[in-house]
Amino acid sequence: MAYQTTNPYTNEVVKTYENATPEYVEESLAKAQKLYKEWRNDPVFTRTPVLHKLAQIFRDETDSLAKVLTTEMGKLYTEAKGEVILCAMIADYYADHAGEFLAPRKIESIAGEAQLENHPLGVLLAVEPWNFPYYQMMRIFAPNFAAGDPIVYKHAAITPASALAFEDAVRRAGAPEGALTNLFLSYDQVSDVVADKRIQGVALTGSERGGTAVAEVAGKYLKKNTMELGGVDAFIVAHDANMADVKAIAPRARLYNAGQVCTSSKRFIVTANHYDEFLESLKAAFSSVKMGDPMDPETTLAPMNSKKAKEKLQAQVAEAIAGGATPYYVHEPIDDEGQFFMPTILTDIDKSNPAYGKEMFGPVAQVYKVADDDAAVALANDADYGLGGIVFAGSQEAGAKLASRIETGMVFVNTFFSSLPELEFGGVKGSGFGRELGQNGISSFINQELVVKRDRPNDDETGGLILPHKF
Ligand code: NAP
Repeated sequence: MAYQTTNPYTNEVVKTYENATPEYVEESLAKAQKLYKEWRNDPVFTRTPVLHKLAQIFRDETDSLAKVLTTEMGKLYTEAKGEVILCAMIADYYADHAGEFLAPRKIESIAGEAQLENHPLGVLLAVEPWNFPYYQMMRIFAPNFAAGDPIVYKHAAITPASALAFEDAVRRAGAPEGALTNLFLSYDQVSDVVADKRIQGVALTGSERGGTAVAEVAGKYLKKNTMELGGVDAFIVAHDANMADVKAIAPRARLYNAGQVCTSSKRFIVTANHYDEFLESLKAAFSSVKMGDPMDPETTLAPMNSKKAKEKLQAQVAEAIAGGATPYYVHEPIDDEGQFFMPTILTDIDKSNPAYGKEMFGPVAQVYKVADDDAAVALANDADYGLGGIVFAGSQEAGAKLASRIETGMVFVNTFFSSLPELEFGGVKGSGFGRELGQNGISSFINQELVVKRDRPNDDETGGLILPHKF
């Protein structure tokens, strides 16, 4: 697929980009590898000032950087600005904490004075999606730059301008040549880069389909990888939930970023005593959205990222209804050529329905009625994915008890889901493996090198049981 910016609000094709030539790919890998060798033994603090500078650029240029996002994938300008600020926070966070996270760890051992040293692993390939074009890049760039791993990356075909804006900001922050290089790669080229001996790790954020394809190649060539994939996150309304809070948060949990968030609440699982009230309130919220120009601060629901994504979601909804689901609410059509999807609420989705357990990536809410809290947890766990989740219950303790029973990577109790620099992000089951952000986010692509030292050989007092025999 060609790399192309198409504004999903105006449908204007803004710019098309050529794929990277084999020569450019080779040159980029060579530069990255050279930098890795130079960085190999440089302390973390030699790199972290660049991250502070990068954070400053994101803060100083919030408006113009956000505009690139809105033009390219249609998100609300207000939300785009939030994404840019979050990027600044992530860059600052790793600048401030990388030294402490990567400090060597001493180990008590009979073998000698032992410690685990955290060294960079080498050049990484990142493959990233369009839904948060900068944030996804910053999640992988900031920790690994601090750690000393240069990155080459393939961004989504529909967000090339965001990919270039990110690369440009990193360059202007003072990162050395080879630290981060955007490559407009075809899928075949991605496989070739994964296979390249200089690549030591692969990080992908995207769909299960994309993740499976890239992880297969990474597995074939024994490349360490992290997979941040999709989800069908549950939003549980427990029997004793505070409904005023639920009503305030539920629509946001589904409609933020036009519903195109991996951790959007895609399944609302509501105990019977709250079901009717919940549906009515969600309908009221879905019917009151204002679709329109995403640059207009009055607009509350953005267009979807592309015609293709809208058509895919339309087909999924049609299939769900044909399979027996009830379209409890569908927003009345609006007169606009943008790629808007009318907010929709589906109920009565049984296990045989094609929509059951499938990710719907847009403003469509699936609402399920359950008898009690145990049934809510059981339904939440009846999924091939496990990324995030939200629980509303009568108290934070009661909610946390339910949260701990959900087979998923992250759960928020009595509040909305948020991604922040200090909070580990990642899932289980079909939602992938590995974590980004937080302390774990910096350890994915690290060589934890064990060094054991002593002045003279160990005087083996174990009779050769666990240490080599004396001869
Ligand atoms: P996608 O199709 O998998 O694309 C993600 C990235 O992978 C893009 O750069 C894409 O390139 C590339 N890609 C896809 N198939 C590939 C292949 N066979 N070989 C090499 N590269 C390949 O995902 P999407 O539909 O754009 O993004 C939405 C999905 O991402 C949703 O499922 C969402 O839940 C998930 N997501 C997960 C997280 C998380 O942190 N867990 C965060 C955000 C989104 P092209 O653009 O050129 O196809």
